[in-house]
Amino acid sequence: MRKKIVAGNWKMNTTLAEGVGLAKDVNEALAARTPNCDVVICVPFTHLASVAAVIDGNKLGLGAENCADHVKGAYTGEVSAPMVASTGAGYVILGHSERRQYYGETSEILKTKVNLALENNLTPIFCIGEVLEQREDGSFFNVVKAQIEEALFDLSAEDFGKLILAYEPVWAIGTGKTATDDQAQEMHAFIRGVIAEKYGKEVAENCSILYGGSCKASNAKALFAKPDVDGGLIGGASLAAADFMGIVDAWN
Ligand code: PEP
Repeated sequence: MRKKIVAGNWKMNTTLAEGVGLAKDVNEALAARTPNCDVVICVPFTHLASVAAVIDGNKLGLGAENCADHVKGAYTGEVSAPMVASTGAGYVILGHSERRQYYGETSEILKTKVNLALENNLTPIFCIGEVLEQREDGSFFNVVKAQIEEALFDLSAEDFGKLILAYEPVWAIGTGKTATDDQAQEMHAFIRGVIAEKYGKEVAENCSILYGGSCKASNAKALFAKPDVDGGLIGGASLAAADFMGIVDAWN
């Protein structure tokens, strides 16, 4: 049975003190519940070790928002997968559209990052999704298929089975314009079909595919009710514990 997951992506928000405070709030809110899904927060590198120290790792997973495409050495300013793992984090977001768009992350680079994450026992939350123009010109299925094939299809079935995917239509990220639950379901079912073609039905059925893009408490229930939507990757609404918990509670 694939996992249901709600994961927060804080992006470049919060000072260290604010981030630790937010993590404590989320941790406290979770302690008072039995969530019906796995819950993860992905936070800035600078916050990882401090956040790890204040959360209950059995109830709340911790992840980074990126990692380097090298293990160590003269790469000033970069943070490697082993460094991320050494903080206590267990997840890493890779291939987010903001990294692809602003930092030139190609499928080749992402392939390396995914391998390094897996070698260091980090679970990649791998993001895919089309831009508005591709949604409008009808190429969105091909775009998403190519993103998956190029970065992930050299993996063994065993390693592919360790990934979490996040479908994030770029036109829905931070815009307040959510994909409809039918649009999300249509793409998630397509993605599962692409995986099944390559790795077989069992791997496809076991893969958690999250939806991301202006997901909030008010629309999460309808999105999560769709059979191929296994949870959400949440940006803006993960920056306040109550909003984030509203999405976690959508699984109840
Ligand atoms: C994201 O950046 O992963 C995201 C889904 O952002 P938002 O929820 O703010 O659209």
